[in-house]
Order: sequence, then C-alpha cells, then structure tokens
Amino acid sequence: MVEFRKVVKSYGNLDVLKAVDLAIDKGEIVFLIGPSGSGKSTLLRCINVLETIQSGDLIVDGLSAKGTSAEIRQIRLEAGMVFQQFNLFPHMTALENVMFGPLKVRRSGKVEAEAIARDLLAKVGLSERAGHYPSQLSGGQQQRVAIARSLAVRPKLMLFDEPTSALDPELRHEVLQVMRQLADEGMTMVVVTHEIGFARDVGSRLLFIDKGHILHDGDPKELLANPPSERLAGFLQHIR
Ligand code: ADP
Ligand code: MG
Repeated sequence: MVEFRKVVKSYGNLDVLKAVDLAIDKGEIVFLIGPSGSGKSTLLRCINVLETIQSGDLIVDGLSAKGTSAEIRQIRLEAGMVFQQFNLFPHMTALENVMFGPLKVRRSGKVEAEAIARDLLAKVGLSERAGHYPSQLSGGQQQRVAIARSLAVRPKLMLFDEPTSALDPELRHEVLQVMRQLADEGMTMVVVTHEIGFARDVGSRLLFIDKGHILHDGDPKELLANPPSERLAGFLQHIR
C-alpha cells in the first residue's frame, strides 16, 4: 500500500527524513512513535503528498508521489488524514462537514452524499449530533466527525497524526474506540500517537523514529516489553 525507497525530505539544509525505507502492506495497523521533532508528522505528510520529497521514491497504492498532478490527486483521495486539531469547517454542521467530501471530491449527488454522511455519523456514534456545529460539540465528538469526514471520501488508507493529543483524557477513549473499530474492519492505518497502551493493543507493527531514521520496526508487544536500545527505553520512560 505504501512504499518509501530511500526517501529524503529536507527543509532547507535540515534533513528531516534521512533515506527512509519502509513498506506497509494492506491491512497493517502501523504505529509511529518517537521524540518531538523526529519527523513523525513529516513522514505522514509525505504519504498524502502534503510535502514533496527531495530524493528517493514514494509509492502509494501503485501511484507515485512524484507523479503527475492527476496521480497526486488520486493519492490524496486514497489517503485520508486526521489531525490533532480536528480542522472541521466551523460554519458547517457535523452532517455538512461529512457530506463535503462526497459532494465536492467524489461528485456524489446530494441525496447520496447525505446517506453516506448519515451512515458514517452513525458509525462514529454521532447520529444525534448531525445538526450541531463544531462549536457545539466536545473535542472528542469533533474528532469523531473529522474521522467520519475522512472516511466519507472512501480512502484506502487512514493517517492519524496524534488524534487524541488535544483531548482531555476522559474524551480520548471515544476516539480510540472508533479507531479500534476501523482497525478491526481491516482498514490500513498509520498512527502517530503517544498512547502506548493503545499501540500495544491495536498495532500490528510499531516503528520508533529518531532524528529522521526508523530505528526500530517490529511487533509492538515485543518492542515495548523489551526495548532493544537505550534510546527507545529512555523515550518510553519519558512518556510513561
Ligand atoms: P514530529 O512530528 O516528530 O514532532 P515533524 O515531522 O513535525 O516532527 O518535524 C521534524 C523536523 O522538521 C523538526 O525539526 C521541525 O522543526 C522541522 N519542520 C517541520 N515542518 C517544517 C517546515 N514547514 N519548515 C521547516 N522545518 C520544518
Ligand atoms: Mg508531529
């Protein structure tokens, strides 16, 4: 589904991703952890071509991130992204936010778009909130709307960048619950998070990234129980 081949991403003379090689198969639930500034967000943003890479190759579902603008548009449709700050349209209701993708991007008719949106709001447990504006929803509810909005475009892959970091602890579980359900349904997911317990329970794979290198790549339970480096052990101690 995703293949990085010696990908270098830099800003000016700051190399953020340093010749990253990484292959992610369909259905994998990949968690990405690492210190602040290590390149986690940049790696995610490269996958849906919010960033362009300086060298190497990046292939998403057979499409090249260095390809034509049509190819890049297709990658962006296939890779849904959920951000730490929910990024909903404030002047649209929950329902309208979720209808936006089907209407504008998939060019569905209004009736079909509304049916898709109502289905997805039900899936994230928010049928009762369809007519509410973002400002009338809790953070956890807003993030669930944001997930529904991404899903409405029918992505093949979902990217999550610290989806619960802006939430109060008591609201996190409702978002994690929705993510767990998506994982159970077989969605391919790449998740940046500090929720180590969640990564252990739900992840099929854990990557530890440090200073633009993938230092470890393995089974979450094993890596977390027996960190193979001082670097990872220290990081885990720091965030626990
Ligand atoms: P993480 O998500 O792991 O905290 P990021 O991928 O956001 O890290 O950032 C990695 C490095 O790239 C940091 O040093 C950050 O300051 C730098 N960086 C990120 N985005 C930009 C940008 N648009 N311009 C310049 N430097 C950036
Ligand atoms: Mg980040």
